[in-house]
Amino acid sequence: MRFKDKVAIVTGGASGQGLETCRGFARDGGKVVVADWNYEAAQKAAEEIGGLAVKVDVSREEQVKAMVDTAVQNFGRLDVLVNNAGIGFSASGRYKMASVVETPGDDWDAIMAINLKSVGMACKHAIPVMVGQGGGAIVNIASINGIAGLTGADAYTASKGGIVALTRVLALDWARKGVRVNCVCPGVVATPMIEGVLDDPGFLNMVETRIPLGRPGRPEEIAAVSLFLASDEASFVHGAIIPVDGGQVAP
Ligand code: NAD
Repeated sequence: MRFKDKVAIVTGGASGQGLETCRGFARDGGKVVVADWNYEAAQKAAEEIGGLAVKVDVSREEQVKAMVDTAVQNFGRLDVLVNNAGIGFSASGRYKMASVVETPGDDWDAIMAINLKSVGMACKHAIPVMVGQGGGAIVNIASINGIAGLTGADAYTASKGGIVALTRVLALDWARKGVRVNCVCPGVVATPMIEGVLDDPGFLNMVETRIPLGRPGRPEEIAAVSLFLASDEASFVHGAIIPVDGGQVAP
């Protein structure tokens, strides 16, 4: 019950890694706000774990502020923020995931807003609440794209590199106010975000040749690290950028 009496917001909590993270918080006694722009899926998840669903487009500051306000109004405090919502290859029908030369400027803006500005805005509105109550923990979900050169989705990569950099400066700014900030960099994880390529021979070859453990991760394997970072067990872990990738960026 490591999250007993704790309140957590998980953005993108309706699917994949976010959903597993919500389940983990609830399992360990936490009260969870499942925040997602897919409200139907968020409601389903919230019903399953006894949490609260909030509809939010994390790229919109006023909606992000309302998300934080709703958490505090309903549960009286906010201890944990997991900035997990993001778009990647599964959104490529809507936003082009490509090299910088091939990425339309509007798509670049949208990807940066959803993946990176969102983290800044959620922190902007959550941190004062956490500081006011004596502290809290923030876990940002970036990607190994943010720490290693991986081709094919340059705006996505830039947004994830931005999350890594933002984590570091947040860690410096808020340490003495009791807010710990860390970053998880998932590698290839079998979630709806990449389900379109899971059977692709090129993808399977990449998994075999590039991932030392020889398989994609499972969403609960990312959630486990996020939950550790959010918990008091990680009380001296701060400003850490942690790859969870089966060894892909080890070479
Ligand atoms: P997913 O697609 O299963 O889940 C993402 C969730 O975020 C969805 O529920 C979606 O509705 C929500 N979301 C997307 N944009 C949103 C917005 N603007 N406002 C609110 N909610 C929004 O994907 P996942 O694999 O669980 O991804 C979680 C995080 O992990 C993402 O930030 C992703 O970039 C990162 N990541 C994933 C992988 C991977 O291989 N799956 C690898 C590296 C990093």
